[in-house]
Amino acid sequence: MNRIDPPPPQHQRLARSALAAPEIRSERMFHGIAVSAGVAIGPVFGTTEPEAVITRQKIHASDTGAESARLDAAIAQSQKQLAKLRARLAVLPEESQAEIAPLIDAYIRMLGPSRLVRGVRQRIQETLLSAESAVMKEAAAIGDAIMAQAEPSLSAEDLAGLRRRSDEIREIARRLVRNLTRSPFRSFAGLPEGSILVAEALRPADAALLDPSRLAAVVTEEGGADGHTAVMLRALGVPAVLGVAGLAHAAEPGDIAVVDGIVGTVVLNPAPLTLTAARKAVTAFARERQRYSRLRRLPAVTLDGTAIELQANLELPVELPLIVQAGAVGIGLLRTEFLFMNRETIPDEATQTESYRTIVEAMHGDPVTIRVLDWGGEKEIEALNMAGVVPEIADTNPALGLRGIRLLLRQPQLLETQFAAILRASMAGPVRVLLPMVTTVGEVRATREIYERVARRLRRRGERIPEKLPPLGIMIETPGAALSADALALEADFFSIGTNDLTAYTLAVDRAESVVAMLYDPTHPAVLRLVQFATEAALRMRMPVAICGELAASPKLTPLLLGLGVRSLSMNASAVPKVKQMIRSVQIDACVRFARRVMEQGDTERIRAMVDGFGRGD
Ligand code: PEP
Ligand code: MG
Repeated sequence: MNRIDPPPPQHQRLARSALAAPEIRSERMFHGIAVSAGVAIGPVFGTTEPEAVITRQKIHASDTGAESARLDAAIAQSQKQLAKLRARLAVLPEESQAEIAPLIDAYIRMLGPSRLVRGVRQRIQETLLSAESAVMKEAAAIGDAIMAQAEPSLSAEDLAGLRRRSDEIREIARRLVRNLTRSPFRSFAGLPEGSILVAEALRPADAALLDPSRLAAVVTEEGGADGHTAVMLRALGVPAVLGVAGLAHAAEPGDIAVVDGIVGTVVLNPAPLTLTAARKAVTAFARERQRYSRLRRLPAVTLDGTAIELQANLELPVELPLIVQAGAVGIGLLRTEFLFMNRETIPDEATQTESYRTIVEAMHGDPVTIRVLDWGGEKEIEALNMAGVVPEIADTNPALGLRGIRLLLRQPQLLETQFAAILRASMAGPVRVLLPMVTTVGEVRATREIYERVARRLRRRGERIPEKLPPLGIMIETPGAALSADALALEADFFSIGTNDLTAYTLAVDRAESVVAMLYDPTHPAVLRLVQFATEAALRMRMPVAICGELAASPKLTPLLLGLGVRSLSMNASAVPKVKQMIRSVQIDACVRFARRVMEQGDTERIRAMVDGFGRGD
């Protein structure tokens, strides 16, 4: 490619320019966090974020100060993102670092006192352009000026160099505009069937747009084991490895990759031997799935006859058939965030009612636990931003801010609409209502008041709702809630222990952050003790208690959880058969003895060794 082509289409462009002459690329292995099991082989499909939609072109003369401040904030945010990427490169071999680091450094330089930034400021001040319009205009002008030097006498190499510089300017401008406009979401429309999606980062809202039937695997540079993106990918049954430093920058269009979502590796341009081994692994995984599917109709009962409630979590309606196939008896956690994602308006009561009713009906009488909106943390929801529902949150620490029930109590109209829809849908089958991020008894009382008020209003309106309202339970997902479980048990109708957030908040580790992923450990004794404390508080009150965090999905941990007294587990659909097999192979007495020994330990390593050794005489 030695002529000046128009920019490559979105789906062909990886983070690096693809102008280099074709070369034989040797096999390279990358390591990341295995978040969704399965092995896949396929061509790499690189995705950058789509062009942001700029709705505001011009500003008022009195707004130039505010506009410059927006620009400063977007620059700072972009610098932070790039610094994070840069830091991750440290885990790569030296030659890979040498290849990628200069590119990131160039981006960082362009965010400093560069011609681009100076030009943008000037356009805001002098031509009263919005910051995003100014960025796009200035980047286009600089890009054009660079390409104007492309005379026919230049060598192919020099032309490629010009093209690369111009691409870099446009790329950094796109990042700035994305940060300025909080661009809603990517489009995966051009995703070729059977490809491996490689991205710098993927937000939960992006994951919600993926079509699992078209996709072989997902790999990202950012992300942690139990972040919501990981949870979604597992739910979709797509093999995935997250937190793979350097991959998006090393991969080129047309590269083939082998993704192993069981061990957490990605091999770019596999050698013939690697490919043969990968094909065998793909077949072995499919066989294992088939073996597990035979368990579908068998009950989840231990050897001594104790019945365990085995349910699935649902994040997207497309999972419904998977849940039925997996042999789950109902939905233990319906995350309703999907209804609010990737749209600009908040869904009204009728839309929500329809959605919940469809899911409840699909479960044919098996119970469905519907959790009200858990906005916050990484689960940014555009509709709420756009509707102005979420004030002043963006730059605070969202995980510790107005998340879950806190936001809903501050914006009760959201809660009222959702309660009304759930109550109406609960005529279609057994439903329970679950509240996220509860930390105080006051929150439960205040919410119950709203719940009962909504029910009275619906009855006055002549709507049909159950005579006895569905139980109102709470997530136990912060150390504060776990440690006050005895008090909360007096107010709530049931508990559902969310070990994902419980782990994150107990260990002060961001669940979606690859840099600290090695510290994110749900089997840390502190987390297990909180699970035990909350479970025992519920059992004393003879109140139902379930675990719906990712901990429940690990069959190795099933004996421990049963031994702690848990009799209800909810997990991603693909984990249901494995956990069922484990349940069917244990005696409760042995689990209780095992749990007692495990809970005496203070060392995670020792706990892991004991868990691995369960049933082998440890
Ligand atoms: C949890 O925190 O464990 C949980 C189940 O909720 P979510 O993953 O949706 O935050
Ligand atoms: Mg949670």
